[in-house]
Amino acid sequence: MTAAPPHSVIVLGAGPAGLTAAYRLACRGAHVTLVDQSPAVGEHFRREGDPPLSILGCHHATWSLLQSLGIRFAPPAFSQATLEFLLPDGRLAPFPTSPFRTPLHQLFTIGRFAGLSRRERWRLLSWLEQIWEGALPPASDLEHRTAQDWVESLGYDPGIVRTIWDPLARWLTGNDLGSLSADAFAGSLKPFFLSRGADNRIAVPRQPWHRMFVQRITDSLTVNGAALRLGAQAVQLRFEQDRITGLRTQDGTVLRADWYVAAVAHHRLTPLLPERWLTRYAYFQQIAELTALPWTLIQVRAPQRMMAPRHILMSDGPFSWIAGKPSELDQSLVATLTMPQDRAVVETEQQVSDLLRTLGLLERDVRLTGFRQQELIHAALALPPGTKIRRPIQRSPIPNLLVAGAWTDTGWPANFESAIVSGERCADIILTGRKAA
Ligand SMILES: Cc1cc2nc3c(=O)[nH]c(=O)nc-3n(C[C@H](O)[C@H](O)[C@H](O)COP(=O)(O)OP(=O)(O)OC[C@H]3O[C@@H](n4cnc5c(N)ncnc54)[C@H](O)[C@@H]3O)c2cc1C
Repeated sequence: MTAAPPHSVIVLGAGPAGLTAAYRLACRGAHVTLVDQSPAVGEHFRREGDPPLSILGCHHATWSLLQSLGIRFAPPAFSQATLEFLLPDGRLAPFPTSPFRTPLHQLFTIGRFAGLSRRERWRLLSWLEQIWEGALPPASDLEHRTAQDWVESLGYDPGIVRTIWDPLARWLTGNDLGSLSADAFAGSLKPFFLSRGADNRIAVPRQPWHRMFVQRITDSLTVNGAALRLGAQAVQLRFEQDRITGLRTQDGTVLRADWYVAAVAHHRLTPLLPERWLTRYAYFQQIAELTALPWTLIQVRAPQRMMAPRHILMSDGPFSWIAGKPSELDQSLVATLTMPQDRAVVETEQQVSDLLRTLGLLERDVRLTGFRQQELIHAALALPPGTKIRRPIQRSPIPNLLVAGAWTDTGWPANFESAIVSGERCADIILTGRKAA
């Protein structure tokens, strides 16, 4: 019996989703061409304050990919961050950790969490117990209401909704509670709070992600004979009779393969598609209806010694959350703050310094030595009620076109885990021999 010839695959987009698909396919003998418009892979992952700021313990696909690259959740690659809530009276309430399994784990974490009153803790524990026993309302019901409406209907005090639930929703999904679908909120809470103790660990990479992840994957791609076409902006997916026949790049080159994996953001994908697919297929129309949320991202450095990473969630003031960690070189402070773009802030640098001092991250006489502010127009996928059906599965109605990206339908908010799950699924579809024809 002769072995089937290896597939040729063009992976468009060298973000985490595209890198994962390309890596899995190339390791299994496929002829991979990875195309990206940037002149170098992983440009946005080079600084210490660049994302991912953390990988959660419950991000199992990410951990398994990292493991295959020889990286584990242990020093020197990662350290563990605390999760803290800034309360209205200025106190910081750390979320406790525990080595136990569910349900004991919840008792030792939520049961000891000073951010909630004793009464609220017991209410939350009994609610989680119901979810644990499968008593969550059906997803179709939750998907039609906002997370705020859902949480309030459970009888939570409005103060707790504002200081605990809303910051948690922003941190886990990038969306505020009032616009997030209840189903997306439940889906992001469950793996973090309702699984093994190890699942709610917050792992902070100690090196820039480029060195830890991107470089290892690109080295492996090179060893496995993959071609990297960098600085090549895709402008069109060519087709004949509802099959992709080539990918045209800005310089007029047309690249061809058996399969095409589009691992670019949703707003980048639709302009590449033939107009008639956008009108003919609900699958593509729904992608065009997805929207993104803009954030302001602030990265700062200061010569202030830091012992361990901290994630602090806030309800008052312009900033949503802050991720601080010791720099790899000399343990000085590297901090990243996020802020929804609708917040009007004057003298941002001064406000950031004041906040860092209030939180005990910066001593009175220490000044910031680095300050960088970026406006990210497409920072997070908006997840309002009704979005779930618009997020596409990886297999498109075009037989040789697969779609990957953090924004696709993976059950996760648009984060690294989601990107990696989508890349893995695309590789599986191609490798398990499901025909492109
Ligand atoms: C500030 C911030 C902090 C974050 N922190 C975390 C975190 O702590 N943990 C976490 O899990 N997630 C985090 N995320 C989310 C995470 O970064 C994203 O979900 C992830 O990067 C998405 O990966 P992706 O592969 O789907 O898409 P992308 O990273 O967007 O990759 C798409 C690639 O396609 C390329 N491309 C686009 N159009 C074209 C074209 N026409 N031709 C050629 N190439 C093209 C782009 O250059 C890019 O390289 C954060 C995001 C932000 C903005």
